[in-house]
Amino acid sequence: MSVTRNTKNVPYYLLGSGAFDQLGALIDARRDPADAPAVFYVDHFFRDAAEMRLPLKKNDKLIFVDTSSEPTVENIDALADALKEELGTRMPCCITGIGGGSVLDAAKAVANLLSNPGKAEDYQGWDLVKNPAVYKIGVPTLSGTGAECSRTCVLTNMRRRLKLGMNSDFTVYDQLVLDPALTRTVPREQFFFTGLDTFMHCFESQRGSYRNVIVDRLSAAAVAVCKDIFLGSGDMMEERNLENMMVASYLGGMAAGNTGAVHPISAGLSIVLHLPHGKANCYALSALADIYPIEHALFMKMLEKNKITLPSGICRDLTDEQYEALYQGSIIHEKPLTNALGPEFGTILSRERLTSLFKAM
Ligand code: NAD
Ligand code: ZN
Repeated sequence: MSVTRNTKNVPYYLLGSGAFDQLGALIDARRDPADAPAVFYVDHFFRDAAEMRLPLKKNDKLIFVDTSSEPTVENIDALADALKEELGTRMPCCITGIGGGSVLDAAKAVANLLSNPGKAEDYQGWDLVKNPAVYKIGVPTLSGTGAECSRTCVLTNMRRRLKLGMNSDFTVYDQLVLDPALTRTVPREQFFFTGLDTFMHCFESQRGSYRNVIVDRLSAAAVAVCKDIFLGSGDMMEERNLENMMVASYLGGMAAGNTGAVHPISAGLSIVLHLPHGKANCYALSALADIYPIEHALFMKMLEKNKITLPSGICRDLTDEQYEALYQGSIIHEKPLTNALGPEFGTILSRERLTSLFKAM
């Protein structure tokens, strides 16, 4: 085996129901001077939620993030500019992101922009962030994206018509608080769609040509947990599965990065139809039985067992421009498509074939 890339993982995590109660002590340990401001980005769902007992102190900043749409480069620039203005010359001692993939990614992106000049889109790509980010803590409230432990933060860039993150070791959280109790309120469909993001990341990696023995093992472990959750005897959201899903997301997040054919098609759907990520993945896999026959069959069983429906016809009767945008928004993702299909991916997924896949969704 060739030598792997020098790999960074999250150095610290707490896992278990009630872990959230330790957040205040973790942040206090960073307060130097003692009145240094801490910043909290929290999903807007928790605005009035009793379970969100935030350990706020006098100079802290609390920002609720509207996640009715997923983060864009413009949203991130606005969040970073607003924070810089509020803080003036002070740097926060810690940025904490509390939410699903959208908020976890937003907090990562802002933390990078506080210590690096310019705009979010300047850092979309690989290893473009030059200076270490502000210290940050991730607290997932929805499991599956692996954003809590990946080295990216996915941002939609409509001008460039793509979804791309700031892939950097500086993007990795310094500390995680993994408290499955925070996910109890997730709506069932959302739990399914986001949870399956782990399944997608991991099987796409297993079926691809960019391989790494550790990633293979992590992927296999995460896929096995997903099968237990979504095809096992219990309910997908029973208490033990909330923890299982958090663990699968964490393992899968360490393995993510080598996606295949599902994610590019999903990105096309998100760019053109604004479908949320997890749901867009499910539509993409629903059309890829030829490329991923085993996982497609498993996925169909998961839908049925958990009584989740994907209404058909989402790409019916679009304009020629929209079909072209769907094609362009998918085929632009060369790296994962090469991983899945080889350098001839453009011939295999021709404009005609991709368009007919979209029409079949
Ligand atoms: P999300 O963060 O967009 O949240 C989806 C919905 O769930 C929102 O309405 C939110 O309010 C709600 N929600 C979150 N926690 C809740 C709770 N405990 N109770 C009730 N409602 C709750 O969804 P997501 O699927 O976690 O994240 C999607 C984003 O993650 C996309 O932008 C995607 O591109 C990104 N992503 C990032 C990575 C990465 O490695 N950084 C990987 C995959 C996906
Ligand atoms: Zn994903």
